[in-house]
Amino acid sequence: QKILTDRIGRIEVSATMAVTAEAAKLRAQGAKLVDFGAGEPHFATPRHIKDAAIAAIDGNFTRYTVVSGIPEVRKAIVDRHEQDFGSSFAIDEAVFTTGGKLALFNALQVLVEHGDEVILPVPYWVSYKDIIQYGGGKPVYLGTEEAENFRISAEAVERLITPRTKAIILNSPSNPAGSVIAPADLERIVRLAHQRSVYLILDECYIYLQYNGALVSGASFTETKEHVIVAGSLSKSYAMTGWRAGFALGPKPIIAAMSKLQSQSTSSTAAFVQKAAIAALTGPQECVAEMRADYLKLRDQVLAGLATIPGLTCTIPEGAFYVYPNVSAYLGRPGSQTALELASRLLHEAHVVTVPGEAFGTREHIRLSYAVTHGDVDEGIARMKEFFANLG
Ligand code: PLP
Repeated sequence: QKILTDRIGRIEVSATMAVTAEAAKLRAQGAKLVDFGAGEPHFATPRHIKDAAIAAIDGNFTRYTVVSGIPEVRKAIVDRHEQDFGSSFAIDEAVFTTGGKLALFNALQVLVEHGDEVILPVPYWVSYKDIIQYGGGKPVYLGTEEAENFRISAEAVERLITPRTKAIILNSPSNPAGSVIAPADLERIVRLAHQRSVYLILDECYIYLQYNGALVSGASFTETKEHVIVAGSLSKSYAMTGWRAGFALGPKPIIAAMSKLQSQSTSSTAAFVQKAAIAALTGPQECVAEMRADYLKLRDQVLAGLATIPGLTCTIPEGAFYVYPNVSAYLGRPGSQTALELASRLLHEAHVVTVPGEAFGTREHIRLSYAVTHGDVDEGIARMKEFFANLG
């Protein structure tokens, strides 16, 4: 007798969470790990955000709220996005969600029908594929070139559009490579999606962690906005991963459908988290810039360290907090046939946590998160250097 549904059989446990679990086991045995695995800020949530949550709890703001989030938090989301990117969303075109992940999950569940195709550039963040498949959709992979910094062009997207294409997912800056879509490419893709009536799902979880150039959102091109859905998150920019605070912005009927789905699953996010989010979005933004400045230093420190390891090559990430070195020089040998095996050995032999490229759709890379202390970068690089030297 079959116990579980077909749909749950279509997805796997998030590969990054699997790595976290393996690392936790080693840690429990007393191993001192350098953790480049977890994709989360090492910073504490800024004081004024914590204070807003504490005040909300003390003031008994601890009950159910409207499912899509109190009007004040939706206004804060809409205003922040308009101020930073020139977008123009109304309050009922915003929904506050339990993390950016739920915004992506709900957007895809309300848009994707069985057999629908969703274009997904490679390398991709682990969860997109499974979320698409859970809804019965089919990921259609868009290959990119490492030599071109994993660039995504409108021409390449257009070649993959078929009558079954429902959506395109773009993530800039990206997890895992930290690549940024050039504004001109982004504008062309937004227009293309609009012309072809394909929804563009923009994962903007790292949009504030960009090192060069002006911050541009696909929703900045307001005349094409009826095909644009933004999935945003406070997790990375405000060091709030555990608060589960994210949002979606998009056309009213889609946002209403996402709220309906939320009404039958999580309901609203925690009431006091909404108050914290208001403090984050409307309060001083220096904390974001300060953290970004440190990530940039960390990036340069990691890149300089990796450059001292013979055989490794690495694109220069323009945002987020990941590097995605190519380790192909060390693959295809006994004990390290694949990046998966290599990452496992790095964990067990050097006590350095990384995530193998297989999780992101490539076979020749490992991902390192540099949202760690500068001391950890030095220690982790030293261990990697020794590990790779012994591999020969
Ligand atoms: N999108 C990307 C690319 C991510 O890396 C993450 C988290 O790692 C998320 C979305 C989800 O973030 P959260 O649910 O914490 O907002």
